[in-house]
Amino acid sequence: MGILSEFLNNKKTVVILGHVNPDGDCIGSCLGLYNYIRENFPQTEPYVYLEPMGQKFGYLKGYGDVRNEYEPNQQFDACITLDASDVGRLGSFAPYLESAKDSLCIDHHITNHGLAKTNLVESSASSTCEVLYGILEEEKISLLTAECLYTGIVHDTGVFKYSNTSRKTLEIAGRLIEKGVDFPKIIDRSFYMKTYGQTRVHGEALSKCSLLMDGRLIYTVVTGEELLRYGCTVKSTDGIIDQLRVVEGVECAVLLYETGKPSEYKVSLRTNTELDVSRVASAFGGGGHVKAAGCTVIGSVDEIIERVCSEVRRQWAGMEQQGMPD
Ligand code: 5GP
Ligand code: MN
Repeated sequence: MGILSEFLNNKKTVVILGHVNPDGDCIGSCLGLYNYIRENFPQTEPYVYLEPMGQKFGYLKGYGDVRNEYEPNQQFDACITLDASDVGRLGSFAPYLESAKDSLCIDHHITNHGLAKTNLVESSASSTCEVLYGILEEEKISLLTAECLYTGIVHDTGVFKYSNTSRKTLEIAGRLIEKGVDFPKIIDRSFYMKTYGQTRVHGEALSKCSLLMDGRLIYTVVTGEELLRYGCTVKSTDGIIDQLRVVEGVECAVLLYETGKPSEYKVSLRTNTELDVSRVASAFGGGGHVKAAGCTVIGSVDEIIERVCSEVRRQWAGMEQQGMPD
């Protein structure tokens, strides 16, 4: 029996949780698993709780079934967490993990040290959808489930261009395409398409970006006022960091945006070099991957950038001592 069949055996209800401010991989893996369970495990009723999702993911089956508010009286036989590297990432839904009799964590973050009774964490996988695919039975994956998994893989690989993309990733994507996934539409609609307001937010953010540390680090800031001015939410900042990352000569890209809480900023970090940004994020209580990580920090922009720079400088100094290329 596979991991999933064994786990769901004798469970009448299972709650599926992802991470705060859910991204494509989080939404794709949660809805992919939700659909798969509904289609193949009629004795188990799945529920999904996630913070509000971007409307661009509205084409995914099950999108309208997702619950956005924590319901204190709900309890479930089992809990499955997807794409969440620690309990804090579950946000207000964390109590469902604690109160469930059994739990399973499926993830691909290097900073995940296990948060459930059973933990399936593959840090070499491109995405949680790739890890999830590994425990599903190929012939039982419907087109609608395949669309969810494909969406997650596309988002976490930046459309198959990040270094986390492997032969296995592409083989899985190929198998999902064979199921009939309309991939040009999914890629354009969920990854590249931007609203008019979002395009203008991106323009402002890019036009005021600054280089630091001899051009090795680049950063920019998106304020709450700007988001409001262009009728956007924090989700509209998706993609800005990707453009900073490919500025010539840059080794570390940093995006700060105001979360809406006083003096609180979400910090996104990216690198193309040997720098380990998951360690930089961890220094602020965040986490992620070696080349893509994030954290939430309280302070002024100048203070936060100075602290990020000193963490990065510390790592560079360590690398120079060890004679590592950077
Ligand atoms: P992003 O910069 O796109 O928000 O996140 C990049 C990666 O870092 C994602 O894999 C995300 O899950 C992870 N990440 C972002 N913010 C946090 C955080 O505050 N805590 C942890 N543990 N991981 C984060
Ligand atoms: Mn992911």
